[in-house]
Formats: sequence, C-alpha cells, structure tokens
Amino acid sequence: MKNIWLILFAVVFFSCKQSEIKIDNMEKYIPSTTVDETIKELESKFPQTDKELIRRGVTLTSEFWISADGSPDEFKEFCINNYTSDKKSLSDRFAKNMETVFGRFAQVSKEMQFPIHVGNAPLLPIDEIFAAWSPFAHITDDWFDNKLAMILHLNFPYYSLDERNAKGLQWSADENAAVNLGLNFASRTPGKLQQEAGEIATRAELYISDYNIYMHNIVDENGKRYFPKDMRLISHWGLRDELKSNYTDKTETGLLKQKLIYDLMTRIINQEIPQELINTKGNDYCPTNNKFFKDGKETAFERENDVRYAFLLEVFKSDKATDKYSPLYPDAIKRAFDQGLEMTFEEVETMFTTLLSATVNRKIGEFIRKRLGRPLQAYDIWYDGFKSRSSINDEELSTKTAKLFPDAKALEKQLPDILQLLGYTKERAEMLCKYIAVDAARGSGHAMGASMRDDVSRLRVRVPETGLNYNGFNIAMHEFGHNVEQTVSLYDVENYLNSGIPNTAFTEALAFLFQKRDLDVLGFKENNPDKSKFATLDNYWNAFEIMGVALVDMYAWKWMYANQEAKPDELKTAIINIAKDVWNKYYAPIFEVKDSPVLAIYSHMISYPLYLAAYPVGHLIEFQLEQHLEGKNFANEIDRIFSIGHCSPNVWMTKATGTKLSVEPFIKATTDAINELSNDLVR
Ligand SMILES: [Zn+2]
Repeated sequence: MKNIWLILFAVVFFSCKQSEIKIDNMEKYIPSTTVDETIKELESKFPQTDKELIRRGVTLTSEFWISADGSPDEFKEFCINNYTSDKKSLSDRFAKNMETVFGRFAQVSKEMQFPIHVGNAPLLPIDEIFAAWSPFAHITDDWFDNKLAMILHLNFPYYSLDERNAKGLQWSADENAAVNLGLNFASRTPGKLQQEAGEIATRAELYISDYNIYMHNIVDENGKRYFPKDMRLISHWGLRDELKSNYTDKTETGLLKQKLIYDLMTRIINQEIPQELINTKGNDYCPTNNKFFKDGKETAFERENDVRYAFLLEVFKSDKATDKYSPLYPDAIKRAFDQGLEMTFEEVETMFTTLLSATVNRKIGEFIRKRLGRPLQAYDIWYDGFKSRSSINDEELSTKTAKLFPDAKALEKQLPDILQLLGYTKERAEMLCKYIAVDAARGSGHAMGASMRDDVSRLRVRVPETGLNYNGFNIAMHEFGHNVEQTVSLYDVENYLNSGIPNTAFTEALAFLFQKRDLDVLGFKENNPDKSKFATLDNYWNAFEIMGVALVDMYAWKWMYANQEAKPDELKTAIINIAKDVWNKYYAPIFEVKDSPVLAIYSHMISYPLYLAAYPVGHLIEFQLEQHLEGKNFANEIDRIFSIGHCSPNVWMTKATGTKLSVEPFIKATTDAINELSNDLVR
C-alpha cells in the first residue's frame, strides 16, 4: 500500500515539475543600459513618484529576472506596464490573497499532520507521507514564474535592515506593511535545489538523532561502571542533561560521572570516539584513556573519522549552492542574521562579547566555586544550582492540576479562567480563547498558530489518563503563551502584512512569560525571598554559556566561507581551534582551565546550522520584557506588546519597552543580584 502511494506521489511530483521554468543560473541577464532606460521611462510616466523608489524596484526586479522570463525588451515592457502609483490598492490585494494562500496552506499542513501530532487520532502508515508533504513547496517557483513576485519587488522595494531600524519607529501601519511586503520572496532558489538542501538537512538530522551512547558501557580507568543499565543518551542534549542532574549528587560519584561525560564529549568533538560505540551497546569504553574493550579485553578500534565535520561541510555546500539565487542575502550568514534574525552578525557578536567580557562573570564563577566547594571545571558552564526549586512539592501540584484538568477539553474550557487569573477581563479572555483549541499531544507538547483570521491556533500537550500532571501544566502554560501571542499578533494588527512578531527568538521569550507564571495561576504563593535574584542568575548563566557556543557556530561559518575547499579533517581542526580560542578568551579567566574545546559539542551546529545565536538573543528579550513588566498590569501590557506586529527587532523592542535590545541592563541586574546573594552567603 505504502509503495503505491509513493509511486503516485512521484508521478504527481514529476508531472508538475515539467511545467516549471528552468533556472540554471541567476547571473546578471538584464543589461544595465536596459535598467537605466526603464527607470527613465518610469520617471517620466510617474513624475510625482519618489525616484529612489522607482530605481530600487526596477533594479531588484532586474536581478531576479532570468532569460526564461523574457528578453530585455520584454523586461522593460513588463516594468512599464506593472508599475503603479496606487500602492495602497496593490498592497491590500497582496495582503488579502496572501492571507488566503498562506492561511489555507497552513491549515492544510495542520490537517495533514493531525494524526501524527494528536494522541487519540488513529494513525495509519500513510500519514507520514501526508505529513511530510508541504503545500508551500512550489510557491516560490510559481510566483516567480507567473511574475507575481516580480510585481511585488517592482512596486514594494526592499529596505535594508539599517533603514528599517532607523525609520521603523516613524512608519505608519500602512508604510510598515509595504516594507514588510517587500521582504517576501527574497530568494529565487529553484524548488529542486531547495529539495536537495532539505534532503541533506534531513540526513544530518538523522545522523544526530541516531547519535546515542549506551552509558552502562562507559567505564572509568579501573573498569568501573557508574551509569544504570539501559540508559541511552543522545549527544549532546542527553549527555548535558545527565551531567547537569549530577549537581544534586554531593558525593564523589556525582563528580566522577560528570568527568566521564565531559571526557566523552571531548572524544566526540575530537572524533576519537570508537565508531562501534555510537548507537551500539555491548562493548565498554573508557573516554578518559580512550581504551575500548570487547568481552572485557582491550581491543584496537576504528575511530569515528570526522563524520561529524563531513556532515557540516555537506550542509555548508548545499546552503552555499543557493547563494546566487539570493541577491539580497548572498551568503548563508546574511540569510541567518540579516534576513532571519534581522540583526547583523556584527551586532549580535558585539552583544555576546560584551556580556562574555563583563566583570560580573568572575563574581558568579567565584559564587559557584564556593557553593560547590571545589575548583571549577570546564563543564561547570552547565552549573544547575540557580534553578529556584519550588517550595511546594510536585505531588501536591500534580494532584491539583490533574483534578482541574482531567483531559484536553477541560483545559480548553478553562483557558479563559486562566487568562482572567493573569489579569484579563472576562470579555477579552473569552474573545481570545475563541481562537485557541486544545488537543492531547502524542509528544510532550507544541503550539501551532493560524496564518489567517477565522482559523484557530492549537495548543497541544500530553494529557495522561490520570489527568494533566504539573510538568504537563507547566508545558501547557508555555504553549498557551505561544497561542495568545499568535492570536493577538494576528487579530490585533491593523494590516495582515504586519501580523506576527520579529522572529523565533521572540516567540520563545514570549512563551516563557506565561510559563513562569504557572504557579500564580494555580493559586500557589512562593515564599522564597531570593526567588527573583536566582531567576536572574539562572537566565544569565544560561545566556553566558550559550553565547560562547553560538560564537563558535558563527566563526565556524566564517571559516568555511573563507576556506571553501576544506576537507573534513581541516574543518575539525579549525573548529577545535575556534572553540579553544573563544574558551581561552572569555571562559578560561573565570574557570582557570585552559584550552577546553567543550563549546563545540552542541549538535545544533550540525543539524540546525547558524541557529544557536537565537537562544541567547531570546534570553535577552525575556529579561528585558520581564524588567519592563515589573509593577505593570500584565494583561494590558501583554496585549499592547503582542499587537506591535512584525517590524525589526530593535524597533519592536523600543515600541515594547522603550529601549532597543541591549545586554547592559541584564549585566547590571545580574551584578545587583550576585552582590546581594554573595552577602547572604557570607552571613
Ligand atoms: Zn516554545
């Protein structure tokens, strides 16, 4: 059955491929004389229009135009016929039709994925194919081929990030919408290349998701085991979380386990780990002295041989192959930063290095050293003792949540009550929750937004038969935060083209605002007076750790662009050197450990390249918003902030909190918190 569908799928796929315009390259096709003539003619046809706008529109359209679109004369004719001074009508038409297309496509995707996402839906083998199919797959090809995207670029020219940052605050809703419209269809990457890049990304993801270590087989230099049978940990998330969990074990064993995990991570980074150890159980390995044992006997082994770095190179090459189809963002770094995060590489780098160089870092290191009662180790970047453990026990909380929310529908019914507990009026709470539906998830939980008005966003959380436990409720509050943001930023913006928020770093920061208020909703009062100081420290230490990791990722891509013919072993050496440099510059002075490569362990580097910077940016946003919300009416402020809509992050933050995104207030508040807590420690 499955095969028949695969064949049918392939037939449909290939038959629609044939009608496509072939793009072999996007080398400049329209001569600059034609571009100049076109601009001149448009200037005389539209004497009232800003000449700069005409110039930008025609120039960008010429960069996307390929021979298959028509001759240079046809290009000129196209521009003259399709340029309009009535931008408002054209923008409104794009808004209306894009809401229909993107909204319904998103709805279709959600429906296709329903059986694999929702717990009680019957699952058939065919559902995987339905879920993997994307209605969005050919829209770039289609809208360039029929020239809709050309009309868009001709009439709504591109504004650079600098311009958006400088002028964004003054723009009206309609002006902002026109600028947002011009940001769409910024690449003309052929569907085939997109598909190939997708396949390579999937292979890299599979490599990572299958990179598990059976911990019972990890032994120390004396052959002693420390980890339970059947403990299978994925690199690096599982390894890191196990390392973190051992901070509560105050005995010698906790420390030994952490050291073994750290040694194992180093072997993975250096690619000295036995190939046969990965995802395979049975043979013992001591990561400290790099010895491998079969049936208790030390045995020679094949090391992993730089596969990790070979995958990263593959991902780099497939991404680089799309460079020439993105005239506005001509390399992967620009696409990740200027286009994705809407912050430049240099801006992000400066924020990170400022925080990493702050004098407070030494104080925190000292504080941790005193609390641990031992010299710091490199892996203490994952020190986990700032989490404010709730003073109310989990069982009591779970009893309450299970009784309140026996199933998904009960949670859905009570969503307006939760919003009222957070300060919303009854009317407003009911209006928002009309657009939020709850399903029982197969996985731990997620939120799926709507891309058009009239569609609902879905809150998904795992609900056991015994009712929602506290952990589930905590996740549900996070997802609910996503849903409220998705709803307000869609329904309360003046123009559909302004819907949404700047980027994923914001999405997560906003969800945490809700998640952190879960105990308030349940009616429990925390009576730990240092709670907020520890929360600041916890957030800061997480940012401090992941900023270094993100810098390694960022510098690795710079290196790959500068060394495009590199072999996997050369990339390995380069990344290890980069990781050690970042370590020695910012971490070694605090930890008093030199040359650690540990910042290179993150798996995101391989499977979600250039994504890591979004996490610390998220920490900064969260901190700045929390500081702004202090003493204000939560509901009113959240509604106001969530309805700002899509604009550049700096403009958004200024509208939300009065100042652009910055690390200084974060460093200041952390300095205050650590000073007060250090005094407590002395007393
Ligand atoms: Zn989230």
